[in-house]
Amino acid sequence: MKDVFCKIIDGDIPSVKVYEDDDVLAILDISQTTKGHTLVISKKHYDSFLSTPSDIVHKVYDVAQRIAQAEVSVLGAKGVNILTNVGEAAGQSVPHFHVHVIPRYLGGEGGFQISMKAQDTSKMDLPLLAHTISKELK
Ligand SMILES: [Zn+2]
Repeated sequence: MKDVFCKIIDGDIPSVKVYEDDDVLAILDISQTTKGHTLVISKKHYDSFLSTPSDIVHKVYDVAQRIAQAEVSVLGAKGVNILTNVGEAAGQSVPHFHVHVIPRYLGGEGGFQISMKAQDTSKMDLPLLAHTISKELK
């Protein structure tokens, strides 16, 4: 069964297009968490960032950067969050690789929040943690 982004790419569901080329489609997110909230989607189906070939990842992020630059220029955004969620545990709601471009404005308008709270690291072995990750890098 096709996910909602495959249906949009195939033209089965309408969307409001911001950008399109052979590999990448960018559309306005229907929720508009903030004004200009855009989804940058690989046209070919990949389940998430983790399984997408690096050349496609680069193309999607290149488009995300250009859209973010445009939103700062023409929408007056004072900042932008660039975000991809991987897996349900991280809030990925559609199992098709996509990047959120979420322009931010002073005054806190809109429905997007992000918070990162520091944890107590005194009982963590950070060098061991770094080694565990780095030895797995390909
Ligand atoms: Zn898909």
